[in-house]
Amino acid sequence: MQTIDLRSDTVTWPTEAMRAAMAAAVVGDDVYGEDPTVNQLEHEAAALFGKEAGLFVTSGTQGNLAALLAHCERGSEIITGDKAHTFMYEAGGMAALGGIMPHTVPVQADGTLRLDDIRAAIRGNNEHFPRTRLITLENTQGTVGGQPLSVAYTQQVGDIARQHGLKFHIDGARIFNAAAAAGVPVRALAEPADSLTFCLSKGLCAPAGSVLVGSRAFIQEARRARKMLGGGLRQAGVLAAAGLIALHEMSQRLHEDHAHAACLAEGLRTVPGVRVLSQATNFVFFWLEEEAALSPAAFAAALRAQHIIVSPYPGHERKFRCVLHYWITRERVEMVIQAMRQVLG
Ligand SMILES: *Cc1c(COP(=O)(O)O)cnc(C)c1O
Repeated sequence: MQTIDLRSDTVTWPTEAMRAAMAAAVVGDDVYGEDPTVNQLEHEAAALFGKEAGLFVTSGTQGNLAALLAHCERGSEIITGDKAHTFMYEAGGMAALGGIMPHTVPVQADGTLRLDDIRAAIRGNNEHFPRTRLITLENTQGTVGGQPLSVAYTQQVGDIARQHGLKFHIDGARIFNAAAAAGVPVRALAEPADSLTFCLSKGLCAPAGSVLVGSRAFIQEARRARKMLGGGLRQAGVLAAAGLIALHEMSQRLHEDHAHAACLAEGLRTVPGVRVLSQATNFVFFWLEEEAALSPAAFAAALRAQHIIVSPYPGHERKFRCVLHYWITRERVEMVIQAMRQVLG
């Protein structure tokens, strides 16, 4: 039986169409700017996001770091969420490699940063202070539960950035999920920002890669940063070929994953010992109650025996995160609900 892996949408495999496109991809040396498939992906991504240029990067982490290095000088400061991926899960790259200080403000339960918190975090013009250079948002916000940020909210943050002469970067690893949730094109969510990174892997199923988009001058700087970070790839067209399918086709079906997440949350509400904490886009968080029939470890092991993988959220023994994706069909969602009912019944 095929394993149902609910840990993350990073576990998605490339589709058959992707594998075929990868095998047939026309390639060249991308460091020379001569890989036609990479060039096409960068060009089409930029057009889709309403930006001048794009840059294929090996990962979201690399895209965010290349963006920060291109926007910020050493000793400058960025305003970011205290639960932002860039702050929590990117190995401190901005500080280690860019000499950039993160100035964190609390991420709210709906994934936003309070506008007043952002305003209060902007440093004045004083020789004692670091210089505030940039505001960054994460859409969807993974750590608090995959919450999508709206066009209106993003515009308000963009207005603050403009009023204070700051750059605005969006970590849009799952921006297509946010767009699907809001029923808007990604261009609308990207419009207020100077730059945005999105992931081709995760829910879009490409085997690897992200794309950074922004102005032509910005991307030129980011390309230099990418080279410095060891991200100048050669015949990367084999990856970009899958990325083009991710961009055009896989991005159009994410509402299915959101419906499956809603269905899973609904089913879990009927499982004894399980308390659903939240469901947004393709994420479901739940809590395994003290009174549940099994301990968290025994629960995970019992599901594993049925080829279902769930794991407690790091740092929270009883909190579990399920992430829906292409390879978890409606039928498999039903199997998961049934299995949980059985092992906890
Ligand atoms: C996955 C993710 C990234 C980038 O992760 P990589 O594993 O480096 O591709 C960045 N931000 C968010 C919000 C993510 O979920």
